This record gives sequence, C-alpha cells and structure tokens, in this order.
Amino acid sequence: MALKVLIIFGTRPEAIKLVPVIRALQQDESITPVVCVTGQHREMLSQVLELFRVDVDIELNVDVSHLPISQSLAGMLTELEHVVTRVQPDVVLVQGDTTSCIAGALAAFYNQTPLVHIEAGLRTGNLLTPYPEEAHRQMVSRIADVHMVPTVGAMDHLLRENVNPASIHITGNTVVDALRLVRDMLPENADALFVGRLVGQIKIPAARLVQRMVLITLHRRESIGETFSRLCNTIAECARKNPDWTFVYPVHLNPMIKEPAYQLLDGIPNIYLLPPQDYLTFVWLLARCELVVTDSGGVQEEAEALDKPLLIVRDRTDRPESLSNKKTVITGADAAGLTKYLDSFLLEHQCSPEEMPGNSPRESIFGDGYSAQKIVTILKHRYISAKKCVGDKIHTVDNDAELI
Ligand code: UDP
Repeated sequence: MALKVLIIFGTRPEAIKLVPVIRALQQDESITPVVCVTGQHREMLSQVLELFRVDVDIELNVDVSHLPISQSLAGMLTELEHVVTRVQPDVVLVQGDTTSCIAGALAAFYNQTPLVHIEAGLRTGNLLTPYPEEAHRQMVSRIADVHMVPTVGAMDHLLRENVNPASIHITGNTVVDALRLVRDMLPENADALFVGRLVGQIKIPAARLVQRMVLITLHRRESIGETFSRLCNTIAECARKNPDWTFVYPVHLNPMIKEPAYQLLDGIPNIYLLPPQDYLTFVWLLARCELVVTDSGGVQEEAEALDKPLLIVRDRTDRPESLSNKKTVITGADAAGLTKYLDSFLLEHQCSPEEMPGNSPRESIFGDGYSAQKIVTILKHRYISAKKCVGDKIHTVDNDAELI
C-alpha cells in the first residue's frame, strides 16, 4: 500500500517551497500525496499553484483574510481536524512557520499522526520577531516527528532544544529547488516578455525596467504602523535623491501594508508599485535588479542564491547564514538603518553598475537545488519501513528513533 502523505499549507512562501516537494512526491509510485490548502492567502497562493500547475485535492472553506490570528488558527484547526480524520494520512507534512503551518501541525498531533516539518530549526530567539512566526516554529518543533532542516545552524538550534538527533535531517532549503524549476521555465526572450508584461500592468516606461533597479519587498507584521510609514518615507526620500535609479516594489495584499504603501509612495516618479507578481516574473525582477531591500525570509534566501546585494530590514535575521555573504547587510527594522545603508549603497554604486548575474541560482548556503528529492528519500526510509514493521497505523509521536 502506498504511503499517504497529506501536505497542508496556505501562503505564497509555503507554496513556493513546497511545489518541488509535491512534484517529487507525485513522481514516486510508492507515495500518494494529498494536497490541502487552508485559504490563508487565496490570491497570492493561486498565482503559484497555477504557474507550477499543482492541483489541489482539498481546499478549506474558511475565510481567514480579515480575522485576527487566534480566530484564523481556530477556524483552520477545526476544519483540518476533519480533513485528517477523513483522509487518514500516514504522515502530515507542513512547512515553515505560518498560521497554516501551526494549524496543520496541531491537527496532525491531535490525530496522533506523525508530523514532518520542512524548514525546521530557524530561530531568532525572540518570540516577537518575526511575529507570530518565531513562536509557531518553536511550537511545531515540540510536536514534529521528523525535522527537515535547511542548514547546520538550524540543526544546532534543535539540538540545543534537546530534539532527538535521529529525527533531524539536513536537507537544504527547497527554495533553491524552486529557483531551479523557474530557471528551466524562463523563455529565451525573457527580458522582452517580462518588460512587456509589466508595462501592460502599470504605467511604467519600458526603459525604466532596463535601468538600474532596486527591488523592494516589505510586509512584516511587526513593522506595521509607525515603523512601516517611516520605512516608506525613507524609500521616498532616497528615490527623490537618486532619480536615475528605478525602485520597484511589488506590494503585499495585506491592507495594513498596501494602504500606507500606496499613500506614501505612489506618484513618486521613479518608484513603481506593483501588485504581487507571479513567481516567474518576481524571479526575473530579482535577477534584473542591482539591490534587494527586503524583510522577507524567502526573498533573503533567493537573493543569496542569486548572489545579489541585499539589505535585510530586520533587527535580527533567522537566516544568519546569509550574513556570511559580504553583499548582505542587516540594517535594523527602523528607518535610520535603512537610510544609512541604502544611501551608501547607491552612492558607492553610482558609477559602476553591478555585473548582472544570470538567472541561474548557484549552489547556495541554503541548498544545492535538490532538497526535495532528499526529503522524499528520508520520508520513504522512515515511514515506509515503519509501516512494514508496525502494520497499518504508524505510531511515531514519541520520536521513537529505533524505527529508523
Ligand atoms: N514573491 C513572489 N511575488 C512577489 C513577491 C514575492 O512570488 O510579488 C515570492 C518571493 O520570491 C518569495 C516569497 O514570495 O519566494 C516570499 O513571500 P513572503 O515575502 O510573503 O513571505 P516570507 O518569505 O517573508 O515568509
């Protein structure tokens, strides 16, 4: 009997990082993957699923878009418990640290189904940054049966928390796999295609898209309010001082980000606010730009994999590995740091455009682009053998390493 793996997710970054895993699971005859989405990010999620042609088996009927975190979690968990009871998976798989991730993890736990956590072990050590993600990922680590960690540093965090070493596997981050998949999808005439696509979407002269470009994504919950407004004002001021540079910002759909971003940045001649871009277009922008300014975890990893200069707009990063790249700076989450580093980067690079790297991800600190296959191999080793040993229902919530 095939191993039934229920994959639960709900946001854009989870989808991007899980697509390579879902594909690898689908290609294995000994596994039956069941894809369940929570609806946490409906619009931005479907951009990813359509691009990679991933079919969804189960879509929850909860609208969490305007709910506080506690109610989102409660709504998802109630529905997910029904899903787990109905599907009766051998294993539940979750990724990262979102509300969908913790809801999926708890649903598995309450049904005593083994839980596999992908991108485990990231830590800032401060429960409030990123919020609520740091707490989510720590809680998932307490109940997961297997922890797929991206780096040695992530493994060390889990070891310090007394997680059973036999349950930890260093696989790399599947985001590098996603970049590799996207590279294979890019057409020969990518520049013409994406310039045309963006010119069709917003009022941007084509010439602007081949000019020197800063790519921005900012959306962290802990910056919402005053801090976010100050960050926008910094970007506005910097753009005014540097009219030859183009600032491109695909704005997150969260109204608490979108509204102030448009209020403070729209109309500044060299700033272009875009709706969220499909992953292919976004990766093209990443490859095109000379500097990335972000508070996103995923974009941090992608910028590193593409060897891009990067300003991380956070007080602490949960991906400290990227700081070993000399092109990466952590500015702090407030405007003062961003002003300092953005101004000095643009000043320093005024006369010498960066050599544009190609679209190809190099082998990065975060992975070699083949993490998904490693994850599937580990799953098979652990759970197919366990199924044979103990019969139909796998009982591994105790982290019983002897089954390996
Ligand atoms: N991304 C995208 N389109 C955009 C902006 C970002 O596809 O317009 C991708 C980006 O490449 C990265 C992911 O979305 O893989 C990051 O998502 P987000 O910033 O929402 O979450 P985080 O990584 O901070 O959890």
